[in-house]
Amino acid sequence: MTSAEDGSSTGAPPSPRVPRVPRHTVIAAYVGARRRRFADRQQLARWQQPRLERALRRARTAYPFYAQVPEGGLAAFPILDKRTWLEHFQQLNARGLTLDECLTAARMLEQQRRFDTRLRGLSVGLSTGTSGRQGAFLTSGRERAVWAGTILARALPDGLRRRERVALVLRAGGPLYESVGSALVSFRFVDLYEPLVAQAAALQDVAPTVLAAPPVLLDRLATLLREGRLRISPRLVYSVADVLDPEVAARVEAAFGVPLGQIYQATEGFLGITCRHGTMHLNEDLLVVEREEIDTASGRFVPIVTDLWRTSQAVVRFRMGDVLVPAPQCPCGSGYAAIARIEGRSDDVLLLPAAGSGSPPGSGPGDGGLSGGVAGASREGVSVFADSVRAAVLGVADVADFRLTQLAPDRVRLAVDPAQAHPAAVAALDALWQRAGVRPPIVEQADHEPLPSAAKARRVRREF
Ligand SMILES: [Zn+2]
Repeated sequence: MTSAEDGSSTGAPPSPRVPRVPRHTVIAAYVGARRRRFADRQQLARWQQPRLERALRRARTAYPFYAQVPEGGLAAFPILDKRTWLEHFQQLNARGLTLDECLTAARMLEQQRRFDTRLRGLSVGLSTGTSGRQGAFLTSGRERAVWAGTILARALPDGLRRRERVALVLRAGGPLYESVGSALVSFRFVDLYEPLVAQAAALQDVAPTVLAAPPVLLDRLATLLREGRLRISPRLVYSVADVLDPEVAARVEAAFGVPLGQIYQATEGFLGITCRHGTMHLNEDLLVVEREEIDTASGRFVPIVTDLWRTSQAVVRFRMGDVLVPAPQCPCGSGYAAIARIEGRSDDVLLLPAAGSGSPPGSGPGDGGLSGGVAGASREGVSVFADSVRAAVLGVADVADFRLTQLAPDRVRLAVDPAQAHPAAVAALDALWQRAGVRPPIVEQADHEPLPSAAKARRVRREF
């Protein structure tokens, strides 16, 4: 299924399936994003301030949920997590759309792999349900244009001076990505849910100069390249939409022969992208990012984002599910915050009772000290971060891959490839539990799936 063959409108290529975005807005956003450079944080803050004030004024009038918020800047607004945000969905969008009507409409078309759902002039997309409940996101043509112009400005170092063929392999991300396209840039959306062989054929056909795909798929394409079953040579490759493990990055870079960039994109917006030095920078000209610090030693934080541009749906003090690790200042000189790693959903942090505590997380104080940067303690128990679990298990010489799922406060399920390495992996985890100062959970053994679905691509998950 390709973007330009639908024929349902007479619009120019590449995609008649998707509502078109105003091209002059794309160009304006592109030019603006390329021009915006901030030498330091103060300069950035001065630029953000009036735009933030305007966004908050707009929030009070456009979204009923905020009508009663007292004056007092950002701090006067409540922090919303996804669950609360979905509960008040109707009061948090400018058209009074209910979550149910959006989900019904979007699901119906997603089944047909069409992404042009529109309700009262807004496009509706489905967001991945990480914690069970699926959400919907609404965008206007103008918002998509700003988004597109900005991502082009940041993702193409040479800008629009040279002709690019961009291939994107994603789940229902269609409307945002596909709605751009000009004489200089062509977009091709490849469906993440198609079989690998069909995806490879589509990519071979496009011969992309720029490729963006989730890491699990890049890894599989890297295998095809090595085996000579795929011949493409994009000069820019981006990992998008999921957490990128260093081992996957190394394999992909080796196979493609180019450095792997990373786009940090979520339902809540285009949050960040790597610079030429490979450092992830947050797009603080699109968003104001507050930090909820969860570990003092490393500075790990959960970002709380406020969008400066959106007008169709509120993103005001939205608490993301990700955990970010700050980086020292980047040699590129950008004033945007530098991020060393995205550790993915905060659900991917294991939560275990402190060693010696009698009660499971959530029912006791359990605030032991921090342990060597692998864990952080809080009232809920001790957090063991996904990257320390990855380092421990993949540090075992025989382990090629693994999945670890925490099922309960005292129980995890571990699948190791190859299965013979299971005892060694368990031993490595035992050492980790000890370092982190937690009570060792029961480790159940499970079979490793050689090709997990995109949804199961995360190695470390917490499911309770
Ligand atoms: Zn940089």
